[in-house]
Amino acid sequence: MDINEFKEFGHAAIDFIVEYLETIRDRPVLSSVEPEYLHDLLPSEMPEQPEKWQDIMEDLKNQILPGLTHWQSPHFHAFYPSQSSFPSIVGELLTAGIGVVGFSWICSPAATELEVIVMDWLGKFLNLPSHFLPSGQGNGGGIIQGSASESILVAVLAAREEKVREMKIKRPELTEGEIRSKLVGYGSIHSNSAIEKSGLLAATKMRLLDADETSIMRGETVEKAIQADLAEDLIPYICVTTIGTTGTCAFDNMEEIGPVCKKYSVWMHIDAAYAGAVFCLPEYAHIMKGIEYGDSINFNLHKWMLVNFDCAAMWIKDAGKLTQSFNVERIYLDHKYQGASKAPDYRHWQLALGRRFRSLRVWITFRTYGQQKIREWLRKHISLASLFLEYLATDDRFEATGQSLALAFFRLKGDDTLTRKLLDRINDRKNIYMIPAFYQNKVIIRFVICGLDPVEKDIEYAWNEIKTVADELLAENE
Ligand code: PLP
Repeated sequence: MDINEFKEFGHAAIDFIVEYLETIRDRPVLSSVEPEYLHDLLPSEMPEQPEKWQDIMEDLKNQILPGLTHWQSPHFHAFYPSQSSFPSIVGELLTAGIGVVGFSWICSPAATELEVIVMDWLGKFLNLPSHFLPSGQGNGGGIIQGSASESILVAVLAAREEKVREMKIKRPELTEGEIRSKLVGYGSIHSNSAIEKSGLLAATKMRLLDADETSIMRGETVEKAIQADLAEDLIPYICVTTIGTTGTCAFDNMEEIGPVCKKYSVWMHIDAAYAGAVFCLPEYAHIMKGIEYGDSINFNLHKWMLVNFDCAAMWIKDAGKLTQSFNVERIYLDHKYQGASKAPDYRHWQLALGRRFRSLRVWITFRTYGQQKIREWLRKHISLASLFLEYLATDDRFEATGQSLALAFFRLKGDDTLTRKLLDRINDRKNIYMIPAFYQNKVIIRFVICGLDPVEKDIEYAWNEIKTVADELLAENE
């Protein structure tokens, strides 16, 4: 492909995106294909000869599009959002066009420095304690990882190495292997699967602790678990608190858990993958109580802050602990500016060596919207979730079990099988998409505001869909 063809293909791709997004509401949000549908459509070998971009675009429309779940549709209400925005999409294109890889400052100074700056902007916007900020007095810093899972794993590994260093001094009678085998981490039973997985990947125990009846992990529970493990001669090293659990967006009590972590010298990580967005809204300042105890924190811009996947922010109170834990030197990685404080070599802060220039999208998106528009965007989503509950309240066959931020959850009155059937039937119709969770030992349906540009009529649409299916289902059960 030459540069002129690239230009034509690029313009056609933008036209395609515009048409796709303009008509996204008209498509069923869930695909109707069966497993392996694509194997039947595509050749088993890659083409020997070049093909025309026009043909490839046709196949994208005819073969790939039918097999998509439309995450940017406002009729998508499952999981959490993976929102995008026009400036971010353009940022993605520019990132690919520029094509730099910035694992060390020298590999692309602007990539590293822009990341430091946008992470400082974002940390201030989210009202994070200054100890996390690159511009703060200490050794804090921010990085953009690919996912919350990677951020959590990096925190878990850093905490593990920190504890091993500490224990080698405190308990010299133990071999390093013995220390590692005694390490134990904690998270809530409602924490994301990423927490349990991080324990597996770090080869340490990761206990999932009970939460209270509103799904909140409490300080007393963490302290009891730590004491029980200490009594068994185990070594507690990290506690992951979740601010915005995946099921019902509950907030663990950091004000209680933080002092416990401090008392037992346990690293406190904060997983605010979704809910971290509202740290910028003064009316949600209460959910940040205790955040000052955090040693590290993650928040996904690609969930609820207008930057497309993948873009997961992570801050750490003492970035030196990452370099101390994960520094591997090679002659080909040396450069004369390494170690400069405001120009980190991000390769030490992450799993991979190579890294995307993710800050470009963030910078473009933040400048296009500004703080005020982002706050308005978040508030609009929260009010749409409230609007959904207003519809629900008009029908006494339903129980509105709760709302946290832009997630509302509900169930049909009666036993769980009814709510499960309702959800299955709704998803089978493919017009809207939701997933279940447990709340107070009952099955609930989560309704999350997602999509590129959700508006009130989308909520009315979803409500009509739910009501129609409930009418059918309950008529059968009469
Ligand atoms: N933590 C929480 C609270 C989540 O809700 C999720 C995903 O929804 C994750 C972590 C994992 O996010 P990621 O896909 O970025 O790894």
